[in-house]
Formats: sequence, C-alpha cells, structure tokens
Amino acid sequence: MNKSSNRKQDALNYHSNGRPGKIQVVPTKPTNSQRDLTLAYSPGVAEPCLRIAENVEDVYKYTAKSNLVAVISNGTAVLGLGNIGPEASKPVMEGKGLLFKIYADIDVFDLEVNTQNVDEFVNIVKALEPTFGGVNLEDISAPTCFEIERRLKAEMNIPVMHDDQHGTAIISGAALMNACEIQGKKLDKIKMVVNGAGAAAVSCTKMYLSLGVKKENVVMFDINGVLTPQRDDLDELRMQFATQRTDVTTLADAMKGADVFVGLSAGNVVTADMVVSMAKNPIIFAMANPEPEINYDVAKAARKDIIMATGRSDFPNQVNNVLGFPYIFRGALDVRATAINEEMKIAAVKAIAEMAKKPVPEAVNLAYNITNLKFGRDYIIPKPMDQRLITEVSSAVARAAIESGVARKVITDWNAYHEELLS
Ligand code: NAP
Ligand code: MG
Repeated sequence: MNKSSNRKQDALNYHSNGRPGKIQVVPTKPTNSQRDLTLAYSPGVAEPCLRIAENVEDVYKYTAKSNLVAVISNGTAVLGLGNIGPEASKPVMEGKGLLFKIYADIDVFDLEVNTQNVDEFVNIVKALEPTFGGVNLEDISAPTCFEIERRLKAEMNIPVMHDDQHGTAIISGAALMNACEIQGKKLDKIKMVVNGAGAAAVSCTKMYLSLGVKKENVVMFDINGVLTPQRDDLDELRMQFATQRTDVTTLADAMKGADVFVGLSAGNVVTADMVVSMAKNPIIFAMANPEPEINYDVAKAARKDIIMATGRSDFPNQVNNVLGFPYIFRGALDVRATAINEEMKIAAVKAIAEMAKKPVPEAVNLAYNITNLKFGRDYIIPKPMDQRLITEVSSAVARAAIESGVARKVITDWNAYHEELLS
C-alpha cells in the first residue's frame, strides 16, 4: 500500500474502531446510587421542570443548555466534497463537535437534517431553540446559506453563526491585518484581488471592508470571470462586488500591481508569473482546499518578498477556523449573548491578530516542534494549540457582547473569568 492509501485506511479505522464515530454523551452528576437516580430522573427531576415552567430563563440554571451548541448541516457543501448528503456529512459534524469540546469545553449535539428546502430547514432549527445555547451552521451551500443564516439570526434569540462564512472571514481578517503591518501596507490603500465569489469569498470580503479595505480597490472573480456591472448573471450579493474598473478582463490583468490576492475558489489557478506581476511585498492567501490556488513552494520561489497563507496545516500561516469558532461561542455562551454580532466578530479578529504579535510560549514551539516562532512573514496568526486563545479570544468576544448590548449576563471580575476559562 502506498502512503496515501495508508492514510485513507487509517482515517477509516480511526472512525470505525471500537465504538463507531468520535463522540459520546457523558453524565455530569453522580449516578452511583438509587438516590442519585431519583434526583436525576423521576420523581426528583420534576422540581427543576416546575421551576423552568414558572420562569423559562431557569432552563439555563437547571439544564445543560448554556454549554450546548448545535452543529447543524444539511450536507450540501461538505468540506470541498460538495453535496454529499446529510449522512455523509456526519463525520464532519462529529469532528466539529470534538473540536468544540477539546478547545473550549463546549458540548455539541451534531444534527444532520434531511432537507434542502430553506423554509423547512429554518423551521426545524428555530424549533430547536429551547435545547441549545447556540447554533453553529455548517457546510451549507451558497446561496441558500445566506438566506438561512439571515433568517435564523433575525428569528432566534440565541447566537447563530455559519462558520464557513464567518470563521474564515475572522481568521483571514486577522491574518490580513498582520500581513499588511509586516509588509508596510495600509488596509485602506491596498489593491485586492478576490478569486471566488462563493460563501467564503463574499463574507471574507465583507469582513475586509469592515476592517478598512476600500470596495473600489477590490476586484472579484467567479468561475465565469471578473464581476462587472454589465454581467447579467450576478445576484444582488455578488453584484455589490462588481468592479468599476474597465481595464481588467482576466485574473492575470487584475494581479498586475495588486497588493493582496485572496483565493477562495479552486486549486492551481494562479501562476508564478502572476505572482511576479504583483506589487512590492505582496500578500497571497491561497485558501482553496485541499489544493491552494497556487502551491506554497511555487509562490515562495516566484519571489522572496511575499507573505503567503493557505488553508493547509503543512505550511506556515494556516488559516484555520479552529482559531475562532470554539472561543467565539465560548465568549458568547458565557455572557448568554442573544447573537454573535459584528462587534463580537471584529473583537475576535483583533484579539487573534494581537496575540500573534506577543511572544510565543515555549509550549507552542514544543507542540509544533519549531524553535523560536515569532511574529513575521511565516507567523502572522497564532497556532491552534496555543492555549492563550481561550482567554484572549473568548474574553474579547464576551466583552464586545456586553459593550454592544447583546449580553444577558455581565462579567465584572475578568480575572476570575480568565481563571475559569483555564480550569
Ligand atoms: P463555494 O461557495 O462553492 O464558492 C466557490 C467559488 O469559487 C464560486 O464563486 C465559484 O464560482 C468560484 N470558482 C470556482 N472555480 C473557480 C475558478 N477556477 N476561478 C474563479 N472562481 C472559481 O465554496 P466556498 O465555501 O466559498 O469555498 C471556496 C474554497 O475555499 C474551497 O476550496 C474551500 O475549501 C476553501 N475554503 C477554505 C477555508 C480555509 O482555508 N480556512 C475556509 C473556507 C473555504 P461560481 O460561483 O461561478 O461557480
Ligand atoms: Mg465547514
């Protein structure tokens, strides 16, 4: 067997060995005696039921709701695998649950829903509000993901976030801030090319605009070419990114003199020549998975002055959503936020960006078998195993929720909160 088929078999064995799947439900209270069981279930359980019936907010006091997130998908855009259906998405959703648990001690029920109808999906998720403290929408295809998220955010009173859109926007937003700082570029001056106009590209670009990038400096492409006002096949969402520039037809045109390339499209669509044609000190985020828009080594060989990030763990600067979602939900849950709003997302961006500039704990160097990791071209965003993420990002998000008025619970002792996060 070659290396790749070995790896495939390893992955299958990992999932099927022992108890199938990756997660289980574990009681959190004593269950050793008959007395324990009469408290856990009938008749004792009736007491919290009655309290909650009297005051519905008590559901947070007597049940697991406050630490429980739904990871919900209909399996229509799973990883880069496409519309493979709800059952086939379940390993991913269980995996997401596992990440929530190990990084932020958040419990997850993964829910794979068998519908591609927006109304039906929205109604199902809305009806689940009593169960959960938050909803992480996952791997739902564009454009329905936009409508689903918009409606659920408007109609639900718990935090809802489609991680494929906003997670990537938050992490790459932090990466962009730091890359610009290192390369001596100003966000409001950079010329940016975005290849891809799907779920990730649209929400990332919106985030970059919130961070200061000017819309007139952005040129966006989909599979049919550059987005212009003359195109008659663009929906409203994409039309807002249509460029006024008339000198650009191809990606190669747009890359000439550009400061930043953002790829959320498909593998190997950028050439070394295009990289050479970019402005001084260019920034390339080639985030298509598993093959980036341009291979890391090819881009690095094309010129020495680039900062390069990808979606892959085997190169520096991996734009990995796990830097964000566990801690964004942790912060939101801890102040019982009614939403994850723009202020909270921007707070996460800034916290992640700031963290990368601080000295790296030795434990992180050791975890990645690297010596002397420090802020610079090959380290613009923190590493996933950096244990400072939970305190820095969760508290920034919680604070932003309080300040923006969506928190139902206020934290006053931030030192105690930090201790709690670390315990
Ligand atoms: P999506 O909604 O399917 O969007 C893909 C977009 O790319 C579409 O707009 C598509 O154009 C466009 N496209 C495809 N091939 C193209 C080409 N050759 N030239 C120009 N545009 C092209 O998918 P998504 O969820 O946004 O994800 C896009 C990619 O980013 C995937 O590879 C995904 O794995 C990756 N991604 C990475 C990260 C990460 O690194 N953390 C996070 C999210 C997504 P049409 O609309 O015209 O078909
Ligand atoms: Mg996803």
